[in-house]
Amino acid sequence: MALKVANVSRAMADTSMFEAAGIEISQQLVGPNTSKADYIDILRGVDGAMIGTLPLTDREVLEACPNLKIVSRSGVGVDSIDLPAATALGILACNTPGINTSEVADHAMALLLSLTRLVRETDGAVKAGQWSDNPQRIAAFRGQLRRIAGSTVGIIGLGNIGRAFATRIRGFGPKRIVSYDPYIPQTTADLYGVQLVSLDELLTTADYITIHTPATSETHHLINADTLARMKPNAILINCARGPIVDPVALQIALQAGQIEAAGLDVTEQEPIDPEDPLLGIDNLIVTPHIAGASPVSGIEGGRKQAENVLLVLTGRSPHGLANPEVIKTIAVMRATNAGRWEGVPDFSTALAL
Ligand code: NAD
Repeated sequence: MALKVANVSRAMADTSMFEAAGIEISQQLVGPNTSKADYIDILRGVDGAMIGTLPLTDREVLEACPNLKIVSRSGVGVDSIDLPAATALGILACNTPGINTSEVADHAMALLLSLTRLVRETDGAVKAGQWSDNPQRIAAFRGQLRRIAGSTVGIIGLGNIGRAFATRIRGFGPKRIVSYDPYIPQTTADLYGVQLVSLDELLTTADYITIHTPATSETHHLINADTLARMKPNAILINCARGPIVDPVALQIALQAGQIEAAGLDVTEQEPIDPEDPLLGIDNLIVTPHIAGASPVSGIEGGRKQAENVLLVLTGRSPHGLANPEVIKTIAVMRATNAGRWEGVPDFSTALAL
């Protein structure tokens, strides 16, 4: 029987690629308003799925799909997939690392520069006629603008995007670039001119802090009332990683109390953020709509690799990115006893990558 794939993501999948391999593909976009029951109905009989962020691909969804072998997302974040459940069930959670590294690093820089150079405020003042009519307000901006040269920049998470950010910010002449990332060695950080430090040293010394870690149980509310209290009063915080890393209530209080100077967020704990959320009423905060990774280039490349991941795995080849590598052991055990969902599909883990 032909293998079946569902594309429920925004990616425009090249259906001919699947058809040439004898795989049936159906396309039906789902989103925040799709019920879990409808989501399960679409995925129940398929062997592979190209998925988006919502609905969440949680244990209930994965357990309801006896044939599912791979779920594939565009981009690097896989926090919408229950990874332990996928691993236990023998389902690969694939991603496409690196497709939007440049865009996210650029976006973090854009938020930071908007806040240091008050681009929003000064543009608003000029358009309101204040350059000629309110010279005192214009003069006041001069005392609030900041330079990056000579400062300390802190990067939380020095993976692909953290390193791309380090490369960019180096050109601005900071005195020091420090990073908290317990999972990489100093020899790697050296390549980017970055000093690895403890979280506490980063928080207490950095003038600018940018977050580039995944959302995990370890990073949930990593930025909270306690960590915000350890930051310098002139600190500017940028989060282009994932919303749940920052406690929104603690951030609101810190910004309103002037405990830190400003923040720029591309991601929020609840997405889309409630229009009535008190965070949106705060002047020293910029929020963009989880758009840091976007560009036509990253969209096309991400969609292509997301589809290729499904095709590669279902035809016995290694995917571009695998977020739960421990699943290889589960599948090996399944194949040795009862192959279950992997019956009849060649083993990708022993095959060469393209
Ligand atoms: P990556 O896997 O290359 O790097 C993540 C880094 O975080 C790694 O070096 C890892 O060691 C480090 N890390 C993990 N846990 C940590 C912890 N507890 N404390 C400190 N460091 C920790 O991923 P990447 O490509 O650099 O992406 C980073 C994050 O950016 C993604 O996980 C994703 O959530 C987010 N992202 C957001 C957008 C967007 O549109 N806003 C787009 C792409 C990626």
